[in-house]
Amino acid sequence: MGTQEFNRSSIRVRFAPSPTGYLHIGGLRTALYCYLFARSQGGHLVLRIEDTDRTRFVADAENDIAQALWWCGLEVDEGPEQGGSYGPYRQSERQSLYVKYAESLVASGHAYYAFDSPDSIAALRKTNAAYGIGTRRQMDNSLTQSSDVVQRRLDAKEEHVIRLRVPENETVQFHDLIKGTVKVSSESIDDQVLIKSDGMPTYHLANVVDDHHMAISHVIRGDEWIPSTPKHILLYQMLGWQPPKMAHLPLILSPTGGKLSKRSAERQGIPINVRDYRARGFEPEAVVNFLAFLGWNPGSEDEVFGLKDLEQVFSLERVGSAPAQFDLNKLNWFNGQHLRRLDIEALANRALPFLEAHGIQGQDHRYLQEVCLLVRDRMEHAEDLSTRFSYCFVDPERFDLVGVKKRWKADAADLVRGYVDRLEAIKSFGEETLERELRTLAEERGVGAGRIIHPVRLAVSGTTAGPSLFALLHVLGRDTCIRRLRKAVHLLG
Ligand code: GLU
Repeated sequence: MGTQEFNRSSIRVRFAPSPTGYLHIGGLRTALYCYLFARSQGGHLVLRIEDTDRTRFVADAENDIAQALWWCGLEVDEGPEQGGSYGPYRQSERQSLYVKYAESLVASGHAYYAFDSPDSIAALRKTNAAYGIGTRRQMDNSLTQSSDVVQRRLDAKEEHVIRLRVPENETVQFHDLIKGTVKVSSESIDDQVLIKSDGMPTYHLANVVDDHHMAISHVIRGDEWIPSTPKHILLYQMLGWQPPKMAHLPLILSPTGGKLSKRSAERQGIPINVRDYRARGFEPEAVVNFLAFLGWNPGSEDEVFGLKDLEQVFSLERVGSAPAQFDLNKLNWFNGQHLRRLDIEALANRALPFLEAHGIQGQDHRYLQEVCLLVRDRMEHAEDLSTRFSYCFVDPERFDLVGVKKRWKADAADLVRGYVDRLEAIKSFGEETLERELRTLAEERGVGAGRIIHPVRLAVSGTTAGPSLFALLHVLGRDTCIRRLRKAVHLLG
């Protein structure tokens, strides 16, 4: 923690999560916007671990955060693992710095030692509430006692905190790059604790001291931190520091409205932690693309962007202030788009673990790639091969009943039988031959081709929708097609 010559003209952005749990999807959106802004400006991204709240500390959370960023390709320039000249990057390792500034604030009259016990604070709150007055300041503190008495109490290690002395009747304001001017009256701000009784700083003090000491030029964070910012502005003023530029990202709403919380997400089947998206087999580029659009737009019709493309086009000016609604269908759509961008080999590798998990094992890799080519444009998820398209590997267990009712007419069995006879006789099992045979049969029987196409599709796949029928028959191969067609004739009659 040497003294630095801060170069405030360079762009330095920090992502500052608290390791109180696994990184959630909203936190990843913040990290992404920090990353994109830093990269788009040729700046630096700093990862700072805000671990001063020891009561909520979760041991493997930091690792989870690092894994999530790595999975999405969000490379950090400075951080606990990367190092850097503004470290250490864990707040728990910077404690002496915070105490030093808290004490300097006491010395300059902007903060004070407060000895009130939690009980006396609670009691005062209750009485004041009864009279309809707030509880900005308690009485048992260094503002109301002589310095000798205070020193004696400190020497006796009496339990105390250091509180910010919030000025009376002032308007605190700041300019937010997304929300515009934000103003609040200092009367609505309690005297904030800066150093807790365990000697640890609170979020407010540590955050301000570190943003200054790490030469952060832009604070980009979720909009739930807006109420904290006026407190930070006061601290910057009192410490005589220039605050960084502020940008608060729009709230993320659940699909049914209201803030997307752990509980509302769970209720609606939305994975909340980044690791769940990974475990479910979402493409990291799709998650990134989806999150980029949760509050930002490129100002064009284009929607599908890789991380590198986003780095080129992202700007804070195009981040909206209106809340952004989380839409799982949209994420699935993005996932399909990004699956399509993979080469076939990679796509097959993505699908493989899901196939195995569904008991579809020992697939020939070339066959798997052929299937991928066949259904790629219809996939939304790597798991689809083992669910919606499982018929590419195993005979369908049942037929879609609505489809049967609609498509398996009285003459279906006879027509399908006629087609099987032809399939047994042909030499090539190419798409063109398969189609020609079907159309000739339709002509001979005096029916439209659809009259045969639909029952054949039902028979081989159990469903009424899917990829081009002749391409499907070709990929499935002669033996499988003949077996399934005969079985359907037998079962559906
Ligand atoms: N530690 C805070 C969090 O967990 C950081 C908020 C900020 O970026 O200032 O989100």
